[in-house]
Amino acid sequence: MKRIWAPWRQLYVSNAKSDKNCIFCPDQAGKDDRERLILARSDSSMIMLNRYPYTGGHLMVAPLRHASELDDLSDAELLDLMHLLCKGRALLKRVASPDGFNVGINLGRAAGAGVEEHLHIHIVPRWNGDSNFMTVVGDVRVIPDGLSEAYERLSAALAEEG
Ligand SMILES: [Zn+2]
Repeated sequence: MKRIWAPWRQLYVSNAKSDKNCIFCPDQAGKDDRERLILARSDSSMIMLNRYPYTGGHLMVAPLRHASELDDLSDAELLDLMHLLCKGRALLKRVASPDGFNVGINLGRAAGAGVEEHLHIHIVPRWNGDSNFMTVVGDVRVIPDGLSEAYERLSAALAEEG
């Protein structure tokens, strides 16, 4: 069903505080931030490593609140999300020295969103000579070992920053 304007949904979204099956929402089984690959939190947002990265250091920034659309977020939440996006990009620039970034949001399954119920912004570091974006998307995913190493490096760099 296509929805163009649905003001009643705002109430529904506001009431849907979290979803235990959502990777961006607090896990009911009590996993900690490290297990969930969460690197940092701000007032209303979080930044985490993508478990199935397109390239090494692929981060995602998401609101803490279970919201699916940009216009579900308040101005303060949008600003907070953008600030954390900047922080994540700066962190990757410092730690991994990429030559560029793909920053983007997939809204809806048709646009490639893996988790469409909870809005998130991808930050994908890119290096000169790596494959183009479409090839990267279709490529073999990074092995889990690389993931915990990336988590250690990035969280250590964040801690240094203070
Ligand atoms: Zn959620």
